Amino acid sequence: MLPTKIAIDGPAASGKSTLAEKLAEYINYMYFDTGVMYRAVTWAALQRLGAVDDEAAVSELAEKVQIDVRPPSEKDGRKNDVFLDGMDVSWEIRTPEVNQDVSEVSTYQGVRRAMTEQQRRIGERGSMVMVGRDIGTVVLPDADLKIYLDASAEERAKRRYQELVGRDMKASYEEILLSVVRRDNIDSTRAIAPLRPADDAIIVDTDGKSIEDVFEEVKMLLK
Ligand code: C5P
Repeated sequence: MLPTKIAIDGPAASGKSTLAEKLAEYINYMYFDTGVMYRAVTWAALQRLGAVDDEAAVSELAEKVQIDVRPPSEKDGRKNDVFLDGMDVSWEIRTPEVNQDVSEVSTYQGVRRAMTEQQRRIGERGSMVMVGRDIGTVVLPDADLKIYLDASAEERAKRRYQELVGRDMKASYEEILLSVVRRDNIDSTRAIAPLRPADDAIIVDTDGKSIEDVFEEVKMLLK
């Protein structure tokens, strides 16, 4: 029997969302990337507060905003449509400004409480592949299959660089590497729900492997 809930965690740009999307399509499960919620709150804070350093104000905002994640309406490379209070912010949440501040926002207790609650509620909707940093440890500790996707920072930065260049976007490998390392550092050292593999997670090292290799490896875990 297939696992009902599948948790996929791992550091920035480890290929989690690509793998999860492929997996969900293969077994006809819902795919849900929790990172977009932290990104949407960060974007809202930058727009409405001008900065993210007021923890109380950002937490209050996280409680108030309505974030909707829906299947992609356009074939422009997005994996989902993300709406914030009804506005399509699918690309706004991917800007360098949001990348810069999202890990800080994700350390805030009030923000995590609000997001975790919503994610658990979404998790009750049925068979699902859920992706993030704390899905196996905090959001869905009873998930039937937990995967922790890992790769060296250099490999992850290289992949992200190639992805951006492939979309004709300007990118610097060095800047991406710095940003990835910085985010991992904040995510794995924060006090609440730090990035780490759950005790019962299966660690999949993706260094030097193609997405197809990783997909084949993960398919074996479904049995
Ligand atoms: O996965 P993605 O890179 O979109 O996540 C953006 C940020 O959101 C992460 O760097 C992390 O700070 C935060 N995040 C989190 N917990 C999750 C998912 C994402 O703290 N479950």
